Amino acid sequence: MVENVIIIGSGPAGLGAAIYTAREDFKPLVITGVPAGGQLLLTTKVENIPGFPDGIDGPEFIDNMIKQAEKFGARMVNENVVDIDFSSRPYKVKTESQTFETHTMIIATGANARLLGIPSEMEHMGVGVSTCATCDGAFFRGKDVTVVGGGDTAMEDSLFLTRFCPTVTIVHRRGEFRASKAMQQKVLSSPKIKVVWDSEVLEIQGKEKEGGVTGVRIKNNKTGAESVIPCKGVFIAIGHVPNTKFLAGKLKLDDLGYIITKNEVLTDIPGVFVAGDNQDRYYRQAGTASAAGIKAALRVREYFQNLSK
Ligand code: NDP
Repeated sequence: MVENVIIIGSGPAGLGAAIYTAREDFKPLVITGVPAGGQLLLTTKVENIPGFPDGIDGPEFIDNMIKQAEKFGARMVNENVVDIDFSSRPYKVKTESQTFETHTMIIATGANARLLGIPSEMEHMGVGVSTCATCDGAFFRGKDVTVVGGGDTAMEDSLFLTRFCPTVTIVHRRGEFRASKAMQQKVLSSPKIKVVWDSEVLEIQGKEKEGGVTGVRIKNNKTGAESVIPCKGVFIAIGHVPNTKFLAGKLKLDDLGYIITKNEVLTDIPGVFVAGDNQDRYYRQAGTASAAGIKAALRVREYFQNLSK
């Protein structure tokens, strides 16, 4: 059997595409990735998705989207894609256990926030540790926070957090920022932001049951001296890694691995579309990703309409 459309990924982009293609009666097959759900699985309450005045837990939002897509005929395969073959039609999509054939495809594999890789980070993820200041900043109103990183995201996040937080401490592993000069200047001239240079985070301290994060233990890379920065929240802003490794040599990728598209969702390969954070270095929001999925789904509809002309 050749599928009408295979959607790879099950974050807001993939599931937005699934709902729309299912309602077109294309019976989409969604290869979800393991675990299904993407970056929203790392969050607790999400308050910036339009339509939820009281917010919604990230995993619940994903679950609702899956149910909505299935209601209209989408099918889920809980596996990872390991290879794709665009060399002949129909296209082939290989998972860990099977190979599927399809006329069209929407690649919505997302991007993972790069993490520090220390055990206490995952312990507090979504409850004191966040990878998205835009999403979670308002939860830290009136509280001191730490931002880790030295790129434009760390600068932008820190400036944004000064709206809510009395102090923002940036911990950066080197003695100079990577961020653009203009952003650096804004950060360095903010009275609410303090920078701790040449330092790495060793541990995020605090116990969830005892009120959550209390501080970060850091080490100065030059002197080896350890110290603790008291804070209630930690924002990890050390970059993102698009989930596109399996596409190397098959689609055009930029220097960081993001898929290069035209008009956001189009590739050079007929019937192959892209949606969400795997091509978006900038917006990276649940709302923008699901909108991209919807755009890709409408391009699938257009593709089949053009075939039948
Ligand atoms: P970047 O890759 O630019 O910066 C990542 C930062 O995190 C670097 O300072 C890096 O340190 C640090 N880092 C990486 N790994 C670790 C680690 N394991 N431990 C500690 N620190 C680490 O990522 P961004 O997300 O900041 O930006 C991505 C792209 O998006 C860039 O091109 C940026 O310019 C762009 N952007 C533009 C914005 C704007 O124009 N308004 C806003 C946000 C992003 P080091 O410097 O030592 O390598």
